[in-house]
Amino acid sequence: MGRLQKILIPFLGLVLAFWFYSARENFKPEMLKGKRVIVTGASTGIGEQMAYHLARMGAHVLITARTEAKLQKVVERCRELGAASARYVSGTMEDMAFAEHVVKEAETLLGGLDMLILNHVGTSYFGYFNGDVEHVRKLLEINFLSYVAMTTSALPMLKESEGSIVVVSSMAGKVGFPFTVPYSATKFALDGFFSSLRQEFSLQSINVSITLCILGFIDTESAVRAAADRLLVTPAPREECALRILQGAALRRRELYYRYGSTRLPLLLRDWAGELLDYLVRSRYRPDGRRED
Ligand code: NDP
Repeated sequence: MGRLQKILIPFLGLVLAFWFYSARENFKPEMLKGKRVIVTGASTGIGEQMAYHLARMGAHVLITARTEAKLQKVVERCRELGAASARYVSGTMEDMAFAEHVVKEAETLLGGLDMLILNHVGTSYFGYFNGDVEHVRKLLEINFLSYVAMTTSALPMLKESEGSIVVVSSMAGKVGFPFTVPYSATKFALDGFFSSLRQEFSLQSINVSITLCILGFIDTESAVRAAADRLLVTPAPREECALRILQGAALRRRELYYRYGSTRLPLLLRDWAGELLDYLVRSRYRPDGRRED
């Protein structure tokens, strides 16, 4: 009976999820035309691709990261692709004053904000937890606290526009993954903060959507460099990932899973067969998957 429940309930969940999603509104690129959007961590990777998609859809794009030369190139490309406007602010998200400054720039340059896409991520190591508490603190500041600081600063503008917050997280923020202990902790923190905040918005009838994005392995340079030779999984394309995130955000989804099959489906096991899920996660790594960067 117990085993039957473990199979039947995920299956029913699947049918319901399919029915729920297929019955809802479809995405149209015009939904993002003219929208004023901040994308953090947009000098490379998924953030860069989101900036290009937004540019093609005719949005106003304000991007940020540390490396000015890369941001300049991304902004130029966004203009070529048809962005309503494209600008950048460079600086580090270790500094909460900088995080707030980016939001102020949106107010000054764009006169408001419709979407805040929180995507940047600090560098960490891919290996067994090395006991460096200071590194965990620093990573929490970059990957978590700056997200909180930007959200807090942006909230008055987002309330006015009835806009959206997009939080780019990971499977490692839903289930324990080996070799990414500090990173995983920061992503779990995002889930706690933003899922609780969403509940409060609902209680207070605040019409600002929060989309938490749960991503699997994506083919960005940094992720492939860190994990490709240790993770027995083919990475998904970053261009498509970026588009899925924007679609989920425009449709004001609660959570977005990419790719669905390798994220949402395994997570159905989490509450009913946690040990099995842990085993499946471990089985996707080489046993010698140890590296100190
Ligand atoms: P990248 O490493 O390609 O890009 C990270 C971005 O963050 C860069 O623009 C980088 O620019 C910026 N950044 C790094 N440190 C700082 C800092 N201290 N202050 C400000 N900006 C900083 O990452 P991905 O595109 O691979 O990942 C994007 C998001 O997707 C992240 O949140 C990540 O956790 C998530 N994700 C990615 C997966 C993957 O496999 N790729 C899997 C699951 C989730 P610069 O160095 O110029 O500052």
